[in-house]
Amino acid sequence: MSSPSLEAFAARKLSSLERRRLRRQLAITDRIEGVSVERNGRRLVSFSCNDYLGLANDPQTKAASIAVTTRLGTGAGASRLVTGSHSLHTDLERRLARIKDTEDAVVFGSGYLANIGIIATLAGTPDLILVDELAHSCILAGSRLSGARVIPFAHNDPEAVERELASHRGDHRHCLLLTEGVFSMDGDLAPLPALARLADRFDAWLMTDDAHGFGVVGGGRGSGFAHPEPVEAPLQMGTLSKAAGAYGGYLCASHGVAELIRNRAPSFVYSTGLPPGTIAAAAEALRIIESDAARVARPLELARRFTRELGLPEAQSAIVPIVIGDTGATLEAGAALESSGYLVVPIRPPTVPPGTSRLRFTFSAGHTNEQVAGLIDAVLALGLTRTRASA
Ligand SMILES: *Cc1c(COP(=O)(O)O)cnc(C)c1O
Repeated sequence: MSSPSLEAFAARKLSSLERRRLRRQLAITDRIEGVSVERNGRRLVSFSCNDYLGLANDPQTKAASIAVTTRLGTGAGASRLVTGSHSLHTDLERRLARIKDTEDAVVFGSGYLANIGIIATLAGTPDLILVDELAHSCILAGSRLSGARVIPFAHNDPEAVERELASHRGDHRHCLLLTEGVFSMDGDLAPLPALARLADRFDAWLMTDDAHGFGVVGGGRGSGFAHPEPVEAPLQMGTLSKAAGAYGGYLCASHGVAELIRNRAPSFVYSTGLPPGTIAAAAEALRIIESDAARVARPLELARRFTRELGLPEAQSAIVPIVIGDTGATLEAGAALESSGYLVVPIRPPTVPPGTSRLRFTFSAGHTNEQVAGLIDAVLALGLTRTRASA
């Protein structure tokens, strides 16, 4: 059975996307091993995965996942508060808290679920949320869900935050100050020390989303450790789906805050616990992140080599954007790199603001020096950057 009005609605929306070159397709991508992927029958070297340490296809994480799946099965069976909590979950939470140097941690089904649950539990209609204008979609979704007054502030601009706090903080009960530690589409670090000082001065609760910092910056401990002094944000959120190569989200916080979240965040309470095999893979990944400093350092080293040789601003994380602006030109640049054997997926609105379509390069511990050198040559051949700066 189909509904004519529903079909007409879908067709209208899709053709509008098509006209603006914003319609997207699921491209079947088999991640074969390390950084190699197969797409459209061709083998490519991917510079578009968030698996920064190559842990999604690592012999140790895979063995941990398989062994636990064989023993405990494929699903958690229920939400955490019913029968879905296993000692594996609590071990993982303890390990996360230790890495982030917090009292406690809560693991969610995904980073998206973590953000919508945490933000909407801690803020409500009498409250104020200040959020970086480039923050991830799920941070905005959680902010809107909370019913609080939401004011976006200019990207990475503590003076803008100070102005908003001075004007509006007094009219609200509580205030959440939300930012990414490393920005997902720009790769830059948030000015966490300045934001933490403002949060302290105006009694705001600083929450950092470390989806792209964890495992990569701050010796792998994340963006809170990537500044001259550790920044102790009271709410440190992140994901196990990127550098940790598994799946799931987390919040590191005090014991009291973690307990409140376990009791009240709907996306924690009413969603099934993560599968045991996923938890085991994540725990093994954290063990590797804590013990293998060379592996942790490599993505940033490769990103810096890329920016140095192309004369781009120095990489602050494993993510390097080359903003082209025009969406059509960005798609063409991506296609040209793909024909040279490199997968660099073009990023366009609404993932980034209109007029800032870009190539987003991500570097992984799994890339060889030769692969990065080849990529640099292919980017130079596009004529997007000035010239080879050194090398
Ligand atoms: C990927 C991402 C998330 C969502 O994490 P998942 O575990 O993939 O749901 C949240 N915040 C940021 C900044 C991200 O890049």
